[in-house]
Amino acid sequence: MREYRIAAIPADGIGPEVIAAGLQALSALERRMGSFRLHVEEFPWGSDHYRRTGAMMPADGLETLKTFDAIYFGAVGAPDVPDHVTLWGLRLPICQGFDQYANVRPTRILPGVTPPLRDCGPGDLDWVIVRENSEGEYAGHGGRAHRGLPEEVATEVAIFTRVGVTRIMRYAFRLAQARPRKFLTVVTKSNAQRHGMVMWDEIAAEVSREFPDVTWDKMLVDAMTMRMVLKPQSLDTIVATNLHADILSDLAAALAGSLGVAPTGNVDPERRFPSMFEPIHGSAFDIAGKGIANPVATFWTGAQMLEHLGEPEAAARLMRAVERVTASGLLTPDLGGTATTRQVTEAVCDAIHSANI
Ligand code: NAD
Ligand code: MN
Repeated sequence: MREYRIAAIPADGIGPEVIAAGLQALSALERRMGSFRLHVEEFPWGSDHYRRTGAMMPADGLETLKTFDAIYFGAVGAPDVPDHVTLWGLRLPICQGFDQYANVRPTRILPGVTPPLRDCGPGDLDWVIVRENSEGEYAGHGGRAHRGLPEEVATEVAIFTRVGVTRIMRYAFRLAQARPRKFLTVVTKSNAQRHGMVMWDEIAAEVSREFPDVTWDKMLVDAMTMRMVLKPQSLDTIVATNLHADILSDLAAALAGSLGVAPTGNVDPERRFPSMFEPIHGSAFDIAGKGIANPVATFWTGAQMLEHLGEPEAAARLMRAVERVTASGLLTPDLGGTATTRQVTEAVCDAIHSANI
């Protein structure tokens, strides 16, 4: 029996609702497959922990997480705690502390989901966005001088290193190579930003020589937003900086129907540390506690986690179960339906157990 230790961090808002749903589906899979065991430990970290102790997680939080095979994360964010505290207090320290430098965001239109684009259905939009997750615009470098005074100056410095750009580029080319179309689009803004972005273009050309069977092209990020909307079929694997890919992947989620179906993996490709899997969405406190949060993104990222752990059959079964349920029209309100989190979760668990899936 293959065994894995999973650290679950539900955190804030709808985080606990969708992680509970995700754990229920994973446990159904575990029972149905019978070939692996997940030992799940939950950590009550997040905004409540912050209100009680002044920190989003204990000081030795990373040491604790280090011993796990993967992290299953909900979302952070609360109305009464500043967003930079919740983000820099929990999610980013894990991403940076474990050098999860590849943020992988698959997007496609699930059956039964009506996307906002006319003439665009399942099959027309099937992308993986690779976001550089360790440096760039979110490296945290910068400062403020003369705070609050008329002469105040603030800097927000993007850091690009040859090591950082080369490793994300290699990851993206390798991922593109493993997909049927073997096609990668490298996104920059190298017309206006002529240092780090020009280095991205140069490194893309260098790394491309290691992957002669991958076709690739380059896009400026502003033109890329148009191409995503007007020619979604022309894209497959996409790599972009931390900031650019953050923005592009919210657009991608909307084009696929809802933020509620968009998953993401924060991956350490070298497997020195646990990788972290989470829905892209935040804590959505506008709908928290109502039982209507869409659990599909959390199921999908659970499938990413299983794939990463080396359980591709379980991952594929989970996705087939999710697709059967969306195709049946059982959708939460964000997708135009009336189903509850619990109804969708139970239907997915039933589908996991059914014989013909
Ligand atoms: P959000 O993603 O929480 O919500 C945006 C909109 O989408 C809301 O209307 C929400 O109801 C809806 N939505 C999101 N997920 C949904 C789901 N699973 N099912 C149905 N509807 C869903 O973004 P926001 O409102 O900008 O931010 C709320 C809080 O979350 C803020 O504190 C923000 O900082 C935080 N946040 C955290 C993360 C993270 O933990 N990774 C990501 C984004 C935002
Ligand atoms: Mn974002």
